[in-house]
Amino acid sequence: MLGQMMRNQLVIGSLVEHAARYHGAREVVSVETSGEVTRSCWKEVELRARKLASALGKMGLTPSDRCATIAWNNIRHLEVYYAVSGAGMVCHTINPRLFIEQITYVINHAEDKVVFLDDTFLPIIAEIRGSLPKVKAFVLMAHNNSNASAQMPGLIAYEDLIGQGDDNYIWPDVDENEASSLCYTSGTTGNPKGVLYSHRSTVLHSMTTAMPDTLNLSARDTILPVVPMFHVNAWGTPYSAAMVGAKLVLPGPALDGASLSKLIASEGVSIALGVPVVWQGLLAAQAGNGSKSQSLTRVVVGGSACPASMIREFNDIYGVEVIHAWGMTELSPFGTANTPLAHHVDLSPDEKLSLRKSQGRPPYGVELKIVNDEGIRLPEDGRSKGNLMARGHWVIKDYFHSDPGSTLSDGWFSTGDVATIDSDGFMTICDRAKDIIKSGGEWISTVELESIAIAHPHIVDAAVIAARHEKWDERPLLIAVKSPNSELTSGEVCNYFADKVARWQIPDAAIFVEELPRNGTGKILKNRLREKYGDILLRSSSSVCE
Ligand code: AMP
Repeated sequence: MLGQMMRNQLVIGSLVEHAARYHGAREVVSVETSGEVTRSCWKEVELRARKLASALGKMGLTPSDRCATIAWNNIRHLEVYYAVSGAGMVCHTINPRLFIEQITYVINHAEDKVVFLDDTFLPIIAEIRGSLPKVKAFVLMAHNNSNASAQMPGLIAYEDLIGQGDDNYIWPDVDENEASSLCYTSGTTGNPKGVLYSHRSTVLHSMTTAMPDTLNLSARDTILPVVPMFHVNAWGTPYSAAMVGAKLVLPGPALDGASLSKLIASEGVSIALGVPVVWQGLLAAQAGNGSKSQSLTRVVVGGSACPASMIREFNDIYGVEVIHAWGMTELSPFGTANTPLAHHVDLSPDEKLSLRKSQGRPPYGVELKIVNDEGIRLPEDGRSKGNLMARGHWVIKDYFHSDPGSTLSDGWFSTGDVATIDSDGFMTICDRAKDIIKSGGEWISTVELESIAIAHPHIVDAAVIAARHEKWDERPLLIAVKSPNSELTSGEVCNYFADKVARWQIPDAAIFVEELPRNGTGKILKNRLREKYGDILLRSSSSVCE
């Protein structure tokens, strides 16, 4: 017997429609590339998104057509998100930090019909335009601009395009299983792979991220996604903010600590989301200028492991709760968030800190397990390390244009991460499988060693890699950036680990560099470090720390 309730489709158009109807005056604030601040609201975002959707229809676009964006976090980008997906087309967000060949590849692979671009990226798109045969129109996300048109003849101005749209356009019926957006992974090897989200997966992901034990989003919040809209849809915040009717602050390109600190204060941001390196910048800027970010209650840290020292600093100095989260492009992205259970409430501050270092537990809708190399499930005892597998409502089934069925293993997605899971379901990432150090048959977590190194008062950035070793196969090598004028030595750094990890886990050597190489989403390029320093322990007769 079937249930007798309505079956409304879980679609993206309904999110912005809800925000316009019930939170219409709630602000959406955007920092433009020029630094100018634009103030809008959900009612206006929805109206302009509908007009843009109508204008795209007049251009001859039809459902399922892909429209690309290469843009910062700003108001027009938000309007494109809703216009394209709301009209049943697919919003393909391009990471501008990909190599130019990869940008060409993803536009052609996605068969994008339109490319929306911020003026920052005009030179890139002008350069590859001749290699993009399927693109029918390039839209500059700005007013008409003769300089830009001179650089790229035929360029359409966004404001002219919206001007052709119809105010009375209504969102079409879209099946919730249709594709809504597309994001390519920024892997370090091979071509990027496309992850094609559906309306249903996106709406369910938004509902879950808003829940109290995930990010606890509400209509009273002011949300600042520092994480880019070209990286897994800014972790879903453009959707979840509309769902709950929060104020949304889009920071544009200025993501340095001083700019963020100013923006948090001027807009009364209550929750901000980004990768650890962004928060390092914010904390350094605030330590310098004495700002306290009074309105900020929580910071969501993901994308790379959050060092314990960062959790402590946010908590002790600013009274800000760090929500450590883990996810991936293939998981839309949230897989876990670290919020305590009832039996954690009375833990001591040190025990709480130790708990909150973990990447947290899955919300309803995601399941995790760890397996060994033979695929056998490992115990969830907080100690056994295994390959992390995921499944759930917003987890990938197949990569875009890949052979159906070639992505999963027994219905589970293999994340490529190595992790432990404890009896409460708290998951701790040890490493990417390819980064973990296999020393004399034991595994050493580079993530754990990096978290310790970064807490050293004279270290501002750190990476640990597996360096080849004659006797042990691999040994940990620390590559660190010192604070300015520090006279820290390699031996002192290695000694610093002595009372923090087992002796055999202490890095064999420390090397100091000016800067660590990172990919487009802020992750350290460990393969590049391994290429450069991976043989260093073979070359030196004894280890630096001995
Ligand atoms: P991406 O698809 O670019 O978002 O990258 C996903 C990968 O980032 C994951 O598979 C992890 O290796 C890493 N990652 C994401 N969040 C965390 C975290 N909180 N701690 C450690 N690694 C993380």
